[in-house]
Amino acid sequence: MADSEKFDAIVVGAGPAGSAAALTMARAGLSVVLLERGDYPGAKNVMGGVLYRKMLEDLVPNFWLEAPLERVVVESRISLMTGSTAVTVGYRDPAFGEEPYNAFTVLRGKFDQWFAKKAEEAGAFLINQMPVTNVLKDKAGRVIGVTTGTPDGELLADVVVIADGVNSLLAKEMGLRGELLPNQVALAVKEVIRLPAETIQERFGVSGNQGVVMELMGDATHGMVGQGWLYTNLDSISLGVGCLLSEFQQRRVRPYDVLEDLKQHPTIAPLIAGGEVDEYTAHLIPEGGFNAMPEVYGDGFLLAGDAAMLINVLHREGSNLAMTSGQLAGETVIAAKAKGDFSAQTLRGYRSRLEASFVLKDLKQYRNMPTFMEHSRQAFFEIYPELVNRAAKTLMTVDGVPKHEKERGLIKAVLARRRPLTMARDMWGMWKAAMRG
Ligand SMILES: Cc1cc2nc3c(=O)[nH]c(=O)nc-3n(C[C@H](O)[C@H](O)[C@H](O)COP(=O)(O)OP(=O)(O)OC[C@H]3O[C@@H](n4cnc5c(N)ncnc54)[C@H](O)[C@@H]3O)c2cc1C
Repeated sequence: MADSEKFDAIVVGAGPAGSAAALTMARAGLSVVLLERGDYPGAKNVMGGVLYRKMLEDLVPNFWLEAPLERVVVESRISLMTGSTAVTVGYRDPAFGEEPYNAFTVLRGKFDQWFAKKAEEAGAFLINQMPVTNVLKDKAGRVIGVTTGTPDGELLADVVVIADGVNSLLAKEMGLRGELLPNQVALAVKEVIRLPAETIQERFGVSGNQGVVMELMGDATHGMVGQGWLYTNLDSISLGVGCLLSEFQQRRVRPYDVLEDLKQHPTIAPLIAGGEVDEYTAHLIPEGGFNAMPEVYGDGFLLAGDAAMLINVLHREGSNLAMTSGQLAGETVIAAKAKGDFSAQTLRGYRSRLEASFVLKDLKQYRNMPTFMEHSRQAFFEIYPELVNRAAKTLMTVDGVPKHEKERGLIKAVLARRRPLTMARDMWGMWKAAMRG
């Protein structure tokens, strides 16, 4: 490739955001190059990983007929755990097991390759093992291309879509954001545990390619702000735990030890018994939310996905926000190309598109949630899981103690742990952070 070759757009990073942007622009006939530093897309990418249908379907209709998916999610469970017990609630819906489905489990190594291939089929030019080291600017400070850490040198384009993930070297180099603070980022560790498909089906009460996902709160994270998860794949289970980096630092706990404890928990151990660990990975999750977002557009560039901090932690959504933001970035570049203007003035249309979509509507709504959770750690990650489990045990133990006596004892125990006014304040705070933005 000639150093001077100029594209309509350069996309940095072939994760969900980058491939969605490249696919959108290539389909509209733009010349697009998609640069990925890994040996192939997804080589080092990590996700729990639940993939939501709607946002990918907007880009690839009926994708479930061809994409490398693991299982169709028919049931979601939430477990509030203590060290040895758990109260679990779940929602199973047979309709989720039928077209057009609601969500799937995926393994990113396979999925990202398939998705980037869709962008290639649409005409985008994918180059692997191509780490981008910085953006190129003209004298007026407009982004006009990128520099790469390879002999290919510099590449030029009208617009650079930056989709290089949570660590976004480019966003930092451009001064759009600094290093993430330890309370703005979760450190997550994950194992893929191999088990025969039939064993998974028996243990989770599903058939065929149907699957179950579990979110694990409370002692799953040793009471730290974060959560564990267990997702069923075709013939493996993804088990992981992620907590704010600041929590790991304060407690001086190693993430792997938290995951090991989770594997020993009496409600988790039987589900993974006999399984062999196939893969162990660690990755960061940007958790600062709306308030920590950098500017997402400027002269000649747009930021999408994790690079722009677009993650809805409360609902464990990230890949879908990445895809939609990539798509909206792509649409903005298409409009800019039609106008022949790639200035910030025109590219700010991307921000408006994000604001009009679920992406920023949701992130705005939960803008105060990260701070609330951090300040309410003890209540929501220790005390309430413990109290819920105590209540369940009291009410489910049949021991001849009259029910009235049990209920009185339970209320006393609850009040000894949390005063009514404090509980009311907790609930009000939660409501405010979740509903009022
Ligand atoms: C442990 C964990 C569990 C998660 N679980 C879920 C889940 O269940 N459901 C969900 O929806 N979301 C989940 N997420 C979030 C989701 O993974 C992310 O939101 C999503 O991957 C963001 O996509 P992206 O394309 O922005 O970034 P990424 O997926 O990180 O992709 C960035 C790409 O850029 C490449 N790259 C980086 N730097 C450069 C460079 N300088 N030059 C060239 N290429 C570069 C990388 O190699 C990578 O391929 C989870 C995240 C983690 C870490």
